[in-house]
Amino acid sequence: MIVCRQCGKKKKVQRMPKHHATWECSTCAGARAGARVSIACFHCQRTIRIRPNRVEPSDYFLCGPCGRVYGTRPLDGLRQPGQILVHKMNAAGEMTGFDIRFPTEEEAAAVERARHIRDLGLAQLQQERARKAGLPLHHHWN
Ligand SMILES: [Zn+2]
Ligand SMILES: [Zn+2]
Repeated sequence: MIVCRQCGKKKKVQRMPKHHATWECSTCAGARAGARVSIACFHCQRTIRIRPNRVEPSDYFLCGPCGRVYGTRPLDGLRQPGQILVHKMNAAGEMTGFDIRFPTEEEAAAVERARHIRDLGLAQLQQERARKAGLPLHHHWN
């Protein structure tokens, strides 16, 4: 039995190799030798090859051009109600990573605050417009 010094994976061997103390499984050896994984743009399928340790795991990736066009909203059908879209710039090289998940309590609170501020702003804007147009804020029909 031989044990990978990186990940601890065990492998049965007939004969212990001389370098058994520093042996690495093929996965670990490959990762060290600069093996690349393919990351495909979710939209246009353009693929980049990149070292696995430079990839931040994400639900999906978009390349630069697609990210600029489609990055602001979750792709159709991927989001459940209440979930948020998280951007991770350069999650895999030039690719932007996206996670779709339910917000943490903190994030939910921040969204709620932003919504509140926006609603306040809208109400103010309406009042402002009404005043400029010389319209009474409340109509009286008597
Ligand atoms: Zn290993
Ligand atoms: Zn793309």
